[in-house]
This record gives sequence, C-alpha cells and structure tokens, in this order.
Amino acid sequence: MLDYQAILEEIHESLKKVENTGKVAAYIPELANVPKDKFGIHLHLITGENYSVGDASEKLSIQSISKVLSLAKAFQLVGNDLLERVDVEPSGHPFNHLSLLELEDGIPRNPLINSGAIVVADILLSHLKNPKEDFLNFVRELAHDETISYSEKVTESERLTGFNNYAAANLLKAYGNLHNDVEDVLDFYFHQCSIMMDCRQLTNAFFVFANKGKCLKNVQHLTSSQVKRINAIMLTCGFYDEAGEFAFEVGLPGKSGVGGGIVALLPHCFTIATWAPALNPKGNSYLGMQALEQFTTKTKLSIF
Ligand code: GLN
Repeated sequence: MLDYQAILEEIHESLKKVENTGKVAAYIPELANVPKDKFGIHLHLITGENYSVGDASEKLSIQSISKVLSLAKAFQLVGNDLLERVDVEPSGHPFNHLSLLELEDGIPRNPLINSGAIVVADILLSHLKNPKEDFLNFVRELAHDETISYSEKVTESERLTGFNNYAAANLLKAYGNLHNDVEDVLDFYFHQCSIMMDCRQLTNAFFVFANKGKCLKNVQHLTSSQVKRINAIMLTCGFYDEAGEFAFEVGLPGKSGVGGGIVALLPHCFTIATWAPALNPKGNSYLGMQALEQFTTKTKLSIF
C-alpha cells in the first residue's frame, strides 16, 4: 500500500522550494488579492480515505472548474440535446478565444472554454426554476456540504472587467445560440465562477465523475455513459491549449480555473485537487500542474 500522506508531503516540500514564475490572475481584480504562496493538495480515495497537505482547507475561487459542474447539470437536464449547441472538440486556443466562434457559426468548440460554458449557462437558465439557487444546491449536494456559497465580491469584480465574456455572449446571441438575455446569462455565469470551495470540497464534488455517476451519498446523478463523456471532455479540453501537455505529463481527466485550482481524477480510484494561485502563461496553475505530474509519476496511477 502506498503511503499517500508521505507522497503528498514530499511533493509539497519539493515544490515549495521551486521558484514560482507563475502570476496570479489580475484581469479579475478580486483574484489579484490572493497571496501567491498559497499551496494545498487534497487526495480522496474512492474507498473513503482522505489525505491533505498545506492550504488544502482554505477556500479558493473555483472559476472554470465550475464549468464541469454546470456541464454535468445540463447533461442531466437535456441529455445529448446539449450537443446541438456546443461541440466536443479541443480548441487548441486560450479559454477566452473568440474568432473560432465566428468561423464556426456560433457553435463553441467545447463546453469548457468560456463561450461553451456560456451556452451551458444559457441552457441551465432555460431549464432551472431558480437557476442560481438550484445550481448551488446541486454543487452542495455533490460535495455533500451545505456551506458552499457564491462570492458576490468576485462576481461583481468579474462583471466589471468581463468585456471578453460580454463579447462572447453577444456573438453567441447574434448567431441565435443564446436564448436568454446576455445580462441574465452572464450574471449566472459570473456567479458559477465565483463559487468558493477548498481542495477537500472539490475532491468531494468531483467524486461523482470517479464513481460512475454516483455521488458521495451514493445518489445516481449521471449515467455512466454521461460520466464517460464528461471525463473525455475534461481530458481533451480541460486545460485549453495545454490539454495535450496535461494529458502527456499527468495522464488524468481534470479541470483548471484561473483561481489557481485544479481537480483531476482517476475513474474508480481517486479524486485529487491542488491549489496554487500563480498561473502559467496558459492560465493553468504553475505549481498545480507540476504537483499532479509528480503525483501520477510517483504513484504510477494514471489512465495510461
Ligand atoms: N471566470 C473566468 C472567465 O470567464 C473563468 C476563466 C478560467 O477560469 N479559465 O474569464
């Protein structure tokens, strides 16, 4: 049996010494206030054991990690109809890239880039009675934790500087791929990105993707086919134009956010979350990527 606690400590220790050349996301002013030296890792085995190191129980802004949870909810609500409005191909471009959207008639490449997640947000708005409340409850249920909430401060901060997302939403609207008002869809989208969770809560919420669609409480939220598809989308699109690199170095489906969080999982085995706010030039956590590479190399636990 591997000594997971010792492995996490070893990784944490070695990376704490590395010069962190990453930069905290500043285009959302509220995120720029987060100290660069935060660093936590939490591992949750499917058998129930938990291991933690560093700042794993401090809340972070989950940002684009929320796109996997909104995708899961949309899949649950509309099934494969979703695929008529968003594709499942890697974009090979940054998360906020716009010009492909124009070339491809308003159909986003995948649900994990911003334009795709904005379409997913639109679908949730059309199908949920109280969208913000219902989505938050879904996340709370998956994580088995009632304390999870939105950060109105982060939402507001992102709204004030969200010019690129406004451009994406307007373009989608012009192509007829946004059914609700731009303002309402973005209000939902900025809220979902502002959810605050710690690494342990993230591993709890993502348990459903490692456990054939059953959450921690053993409730079946998604079919195993939907989980297969969501994991495939994470593997191919979860790190934007660095998805190949993440698959190559780490070999797990996963998702990053500009708050510096990453969640990854090995189906039927574990979920793992890292948090280190400074980002590499592709917008993914500089230390988080390396921590996960070390983890799958040391444990030999990856999908490949
Ligand atoms: N809320 C961020 C944005 O829309 C999410 C981006 C990310 O985490 N990659 O720009």
